[in-house]
Amino acid sequence: MTDAPLQLFNSLTRELETFEPVHPGEARVYSCGPTVYNYPHIGNMRAYVFADTLGRTLTHKGYQLKHVINITDVGHLTDDADEGEDKMEKMAAEQKQSIWDIARYYTEAYWEDIDALNIRQPMKWSIATDYIQEMIAFVESMPEEHVYEIESGLYFDVASVEDYGRLARAVTEEDGESRIGAVEGKRNAADFALWRKTPPGEKRQMEWESPWGKGAPGWHLECSVMGEKLLGFPFDIHTGGIDHREIHHPNEIAQNQAFAASGHGSCCGGGLDNPTNSGANIWMHNNFLVERSGKMSKSSGEFLRLPLLIDKGFHPLAYRMMCLQAHYRSELEFSWDGLLAALTRLKRMVIAVERIKDAPEGGDIDHPKFAPMLAKFEAAMADDLNTPIALTALEDALAVKKVDSAIKRAVVTQMDSVLGLDLFGTARADLRLRPRDVEISEQEIEDTLARRKAARAEKDFATSDALRDALMAKGVDVMDGDPLGWEWKLG
Ligand code: AMP
Ligand code: ZN
Repeated sequence: MTDAPLQLFNSLTRELETFEPVHPGEARVYSCGPTVYNYPHIGNMRAYVFADTLGRTLTHKGYQLKHVINITDVGHLTDDADEGEDKMEKMAAEQKQSIWDIARYYTEAYWEDIDALNIRQPMKWSIATDYIQEMIAFVESMPEEHVYEIESGLYFDVASVEDYGRLARAVTEEDGESRIGAVEGKRNAADFALWRKTPPGEKRQMEWESPWGKGAPGWHLECSVMGEKLLGFPFDIHTGGIDHREIHHPNEIAQNQAFAASGHGSCCGGGLDNPTNSGANIWMHNNFLVERSGKMSKSSGEFLRLPLLIDKGFHPLAYRMMCLQAHYRSELEFSWDGLLAALTRLKRMVIAVERIKDAPEGGDIDHPKFAPMLAKFEAAMADDLNTPIALTALEDALAVKKVDSAIKRAVVTQMDSVLGLDLFGTARADLRLRPRDVEISEQEIEDTLARRKAARAEKDFATSDALRDALMAKGVDVMDGDPLGWEWKLG
């Protein structure tokens, strides 16, 4: 347990707040997970690097972390505000496969990215379709003034709760107007589906019986229900990307307020001047990773997926480093140069850690030489997860000279347990990934370089240059005098 009280930015109050757990000693966190109709792009993965860094910080602070991430395999429409088709149904139709197969395939692809980014496993991956009966019961228990049935389904009346949309603070008349039209019979523009009935004569791949007829749940419902079932209202922290601040989370909050009004414990009926009435004490949102040319969009052909970065020769932890270099509330612009700079920074750290890797474990970090770095690190992380500053504290610690390696090892281990760069589990050679389109073998590179060295020793610069050009033609950069001691690099 460390001293600096943890300050987190609550999107609901728009203020930094000190973390006070609902259940002493525990931290209960719910993160909105992926909709598994396609591969995640690296922007999506920024949301989970953020949630993981938050979770690691809470663990470091001594709390027992109870983290839930859901997998959305039903209900998310192509438009967040109840319009368009179900993303899963649409992809299944396009690929002529069952929704269940699509969900399994893309969930596994997502989990591979989770592992590659050294994101810790949550206490539970909750799968939306495992909670259909609970979702029905949750809606049934809402007092009737909150819900109404129309031909297309059962809807939530947003005017029935206090402070609807406070989280977004952007629900304007204009937004409202654009959201109305599509569904006939809605009372308010922002009303959303709790249950979407299967139209008569149609059959959906995923549909269930309910008191309102055969159909499927609305997307917002699942997170309210799984949050309540698995963590209990109110829990401590709810996370998601900043887009969720506008529609998905305000709708979750409205449902939670209505659910509570039916007498479920002390939470969450009433307005949002008491933030706890939202169902969670703190709502946190990561800003977006953006890319100018539109490669982040899943509808573009070659969109930015983690495996694409790996194919191009970038270790996935370089992407984690890139995320940590920005504060989670700042927009981050993706560029290949930026990724290369992050890889180089990671390399420097890994090389520095190689020197202390063999030192005995269990060194005592209480050493005056490291006190300033540890204080800086703790203050940075406690200041709403200021990872850019925390990284510099880690570098300062790695640069300390003439000190017992066991102590340094302990300090760096502690810092990396929060940042999750896996510095002790990654070797310098692991970071040199072979870009997929490069054919040359490492042996061939090493042999050619040895011949080049011999030529240079004999001052035969023509041969030496020719060998270098031959390597370059095969995609190998020869790096004379590289400060990190790498003689060559691919790609
Ligand atoms: P989805 O699979 O679309 O439900 O999104 C999964 C998570 O990624 C959600 O928390 C989104 O808010 C988040 N997200 C989506 N796009 C980006 C982006 N470009 N940068 C950061 N987070 C994003
Ligand atoms: Zn959600």
